[in-house]
Amino acid sequence: MNTSANLLSNLMACLNQGDIDVVDLTHTLGPATPMIKVPEGHGKQPPQTSLETISDYREDGGYARWSTLTTAEHSGTHFDTPSHWFTGKDLEAATTDTIAVKRFVAPACVIDCAKDVSEDEDFILTAERLESWEGEHGRIPAGSWVLLHSGWAGRFKDADKFLNQIDGVAHSPGPDPDAVRLMIARDACGYGTETIGTDHGNANQFDPVFPAHNLMHGANKFGMSSLNNLNKLPPTGAVILTAPLKIVDGSGSPLRVLAFVPNAA
Ligand code: MN
Repeated sequence: MNTSANLLSNLMACLNQGDIDVVDLTHTLGPATPMIKVPEGHGKQPPQTSLETISDYREDGGYARWSTLTTAEHSGTHFDTPSHWFTGKDLEAATTDTIAVKRFVAPACVIDCAKDVSEDEDFILTAERLESWEGEHGRIPAGSWVLLHSGWAGRFKDADKFLNQIDGVAHSPGPDPDAVRLMIARDACGYGTETIGTDHGNANQFDPVFPAHNLMHGANKFGMSSLNNLNKLPPTGAVILTAPLKIVDGSGSPLRVLAFVPNAA
């Protein structure tokens, strides 16, 4: 066998023996999935995800059970393509159906800010914080996801707490423009978060507004939101699989995010 064939058989052996765990970074998608509220003047309100029966098993000869799924591209645990934002609209191969599939397999750098966020819902991820993480774990490698572990996934079952809107402003953590610029300077493949969107709840305070969308997508980088189980990932060393549905000209898609995690035990 050549080296690459050995690599794959070794990978399967590691998976079968439990030397590598497969961790699900996805929340369930259904009627209870919290949906983002679109601000006044920025379009329609997206639907809650729903399922309507097409057919069900029947004693008189119904064999099959299936449903119509109604959802939005940016529902639940989902992927943002560069084409999602106006800054990425002219990029090549930047929609769900055109992105090179190789880009859907990448290592993950996990920035643990759960304690900070438990003390401050409006926590801002700064470039300094990323640099201090790098001081401990090494430089963010090119092509990596940067994932903010905030503990926000624990709120998913309560949509009000998950959105955390008070007087029209969402209180939830996210990066400032310089943190986003640092991720781009490192050539990260994307930024992922446990909150409903990649940007800080009050990302209108920044210049540019919504930097995790504006700057990241303009630089042909991805986003992921409503991630789960980030507490099960090491700071470095996991590889994640993030393939969105191949929707024609899609700006994003719900997806199943899987992490391959070396078992330390
Ligand atoms: Mn989105």
